[in-house]
Amino acid sequence: MTVAICIGRIAAMKNALDSESNTPENTNSKVGFVSLGCPKALVDSERIITQLRNDGYQVAADYDEAGVVVVNTCGFIDSAKQESLDSIREAMDKNGKVIVTGCLGKDEQLIQQNFPEILSVSGPQQYESVVGAVHSHLPISFQHDPKIDLVPPQGIKLTPRHYAYLKISEGCNHRCSFCIIPSLRGDLASRPIGDVMDEAQRLVDAGVKELLVVSQDTSAYGLDIKYRTGFWQGRPLKTKFYDLCEALGELGIWVRLHYVYPYPHVDEVVPLMAEGKILPYLDIPFQHASPRVLKDMKRPANDAKVLERIKRWREICPDLNIRSTFIVGFPGETEEDFEYLLDWMDEAEIDRAGAFKYEAVEGAKANDLPDHVSPEISELRLQLLMDNQRRISEKRMPKKVGTTQQVLIDEISEEGIVGRSWADAPEIDGLVYIQTNKELSPGDLVEAKITAADEYDLWGEVN
Ligand code: SF4
Repeated sequence: MTVAICIGRIAAMKNALDSESNTPENTNSKVGFVSLGCPKALVDSERIITQLRNDGYQVAADYDEAGVVVVNTCGFIDSAKQESLDSIREAMDKNGKVIVTGCLGKDEQLIQQNFPEILSVSGPQQYESVVGAVHSHLPISFQHDPKIDLVPPQGIKLTPRHYAYLKISEGCNHRCSFCIIPSLRGDLASRPIGDVMDEAQRLVDAGVKELLVVSQDTSAYGLDIKYRTGFWQGRPLKTKFYDLCEALGELGIWVRLHYVYPYPHVDEVVPLMAEGKILPYLDIPFQHASPRVLKDMKRPANDAKVLERIKRWREICPDLNIRSTFIVGFPGETEEDFEYLLDWMDEAEIDRAGAFKYEAVEGAKANDLPDHVSPEISELRLQLLMDNQRRISEKRMPKKVGTTQQVLIDEISEEGIVGRSWADAPEIDGLVYIQTNKELSPGDLVEAKITAADEYDLWGEVN
């Protein structure tokens, strides 16, 4: 699961898309798109836009030129719900023809009550319903020739050309007490490994240099279909976490794993990291460390041996970088629980962390727990946790000065050249600021000598 709440993006990719399109300019076949929520929701948006482009639609750059606006909502926590409602309201005010989809769309009554004029409401993964609604409210009035108006084989991506999210499954079998995702997205449903690998290969062929593997529970991949054997390029492969990591590791690009739980079988992929086949990076949303809080949270893989497991992983792969998210102020969290969490973070040497104050979500079981923590204490704990994280990072980051790191260039602007090392996922981790006389482009992989570090970012030279 993720507690990250992204910002909306309305058709930021318009120019790139329009330049590929042969759709007549004088017909209104333009769809506005607002995508909210986590990377998994972003992948849903990519899929809907790809289908719409296949059907001959274009993406509008603003509300005025859109014949209809699709809002892909997030409903994970109440503040995300509010952001979704605000975005729908904005689209209604500025355009008026609005189709709602995504997690909040599951609560159709709420949407209809707030916006009786809405054209259509559907829940997450209901791609056909969204595309059908666009067709019925904005019928295409010209003959679309899919052979002329080409959509790239890898589909439309909302990320920069050199990295892409690869969604390997939908839903989740766990029932964490603070989370309503299973009721929104259903139980775990893994994509066949052949389909996932085909998509990965298409992305690599299109120039992607970094794949970010996402799902609600990446390490549970294949469990729902009993690790069925599939085929990729004529060879049998099990629909299983290890087999997927191994196969992705053969593609010769960066492979980064998100939303992994520390199950014992994760041990098997750490040697792949040590061998350089996949990035030595694990995004594990621990959420807490106190056994009592974890029990009330009903977290998966919450056994007391996690610290030992992390130490063992670091023995096998000393470069391993662990990112995590934590919730402070969970109902019943005592001072002692919180201190335990801080000490645990020190011992685990969590490299990167995001933290959130507990927020009640309508329909979540945790709401019924006693001893809710006051907002003031939650705020204080949030600050203390982030300070603790900064201290851990301050100790670890200077060790990188003097080393040579592979850096993926993200952006070149008048302000300079900015990239990321293998230890940094896009949008959530640190950056590497590059000094060089060389001509570089986004997507270039370079070797940078690290010359300076602060608690989050690095500075390096490329000769
Ligand atoms: S139920 Fe737990 S593991 Fe599943 S998505 Fe929610 S927080 Fe993540």
